[in-house]
Amino acid sequence: MSSLLHLLLKQPQSLSSLNNLVSNNGAKALSIPGLLYSRRRGLHSSPPKPPSFAIAFDIDGVILRGETPIGGSPQALRRLYYDSATAATISALKIPYVFLTNGGGVPESKRAKDLARQLGVNISPLQVIQGHTPFKQLVKRFENDLIVAVGKGEPAVVMSEYGFKNVLSIDDYASFFDNIDPLAQYKKWKEIQAVKQHASLTINPDSERVGAVFVVSDSIDWSRDIQVLCDILRTGGLPGRETAHQPPLFFASDDLAYQALFPAERLGMGAFRIALESIFNSIHPKDMEYTSYGKPHPFVFKNAENVLTQVVQSAYNNIEADGGTEPFKTLYMVGDNPSIDIKGARQAGSPWFSILTRTGVFKGEGNHTEHPADLVVDTVEEAVDYILRKEHIC
Ligand SMILES: [Mg+2]
Repeated sequence: MSSLLHLLLKQPQSLSSLNNLVSNNGAKALSIPGLLYSRRRGLHSSPPKPPSFAIAFDIDGVILRGETPIGGSPQALRRLYYDSATAATISALKIPYVFLTNGGGVPESKRAKDLARQLGVNISPLQVIQGHTPFKQLVKRFENDLIVAVGKGEPAVVMSEYGFKNVLSIDDYASFFDNIDPLAQYKKWKEIQAVKQHASLTINPDSERVGAVFVVSDSIDWSRDIQVLCDILRTGGLPGRETAHQPPLFFASDDLAYQALFPAERLGMGAFRIALESIFNSIHPKDMEYTSYGKPHPFVFKNAENVLTQVVQSAYNNIEADGGTEPFKTLYMVGDNPSIDIKGARQAGSPWFSILTRTGVFKGEGNHTEHPADLVVDTVEEAVDYILRKEHIC
């Protein structure tokens, strides 16, 4: 390290080669005792202080609509970095921020890569908080149980990456039971899944009770999923058998609707939950028990604050030596849904400050009457502009 330092001090033009070395060697290599190097901040005898604020962005209806960036989101996000927004190190981050979405269906690492491609900035998996991200905190409880994961994308991969050992997607699970979906033959659009190929699965779904069901993302086939989930829930996890105690059921979020590509809102996971619950309660003597995560739950905002602190510690990786992070003075929540994003930030209270955009669910002229935001703007670009001006960041 000392020869490297010597080289640096003699040849400042070697900074870019150091940065490559830093990127390849991971965050720890960034700390050189007594000297801090970070991209575009150059060499400092004393480390720069992180900002006293941070931002949480909702994704759908704020940053993207479908796959397409909206509201000037790429240029807005670029302003949160030093010059090299695409640098493969979190130290390029000038303003700490996370994405706080109720969406999901893919691992956080994959979502970070997709967002980076769509928005043209480097994004760490740490900066992506999805509806199902808190499921990882339940690993210890269900680690070795048979888990059924519901939803679009790769719900079983998500759960396996969190550490659950015996996970089946509901597609795979249903395929173990002949004729469980009486409408399957009419679903021409559906690929027949070749299953029973899960070499890593240590238990047999035909005879092993489902320990828990996790609705990771939006159900694709409501009729099949409601049928199979009713079977699982009313029999204690053994479809086709006698009635038994309902296994635990978790939803990643409870959004009734969300803004996608269609001009009007689309039914979300909360709508699916209502449908399932209504049907289950009609065919079973005991009401369906479940736990929902996602915004506007206050826990989600507390968790986001903790993650933002970790983002600061990663971006300003010398911070622990400097006495740790200060609590944030302001946390901005930028969202499009008054009953999800704004209600959540308001319930979370200080230091959260809510900003409502008009690019998604909310399209009103003034403020929302039931869940008024601290600020209403047209786009996320305007929101970032407001934040940076208020915080005196040029
Ligand atoms: Mg939204």
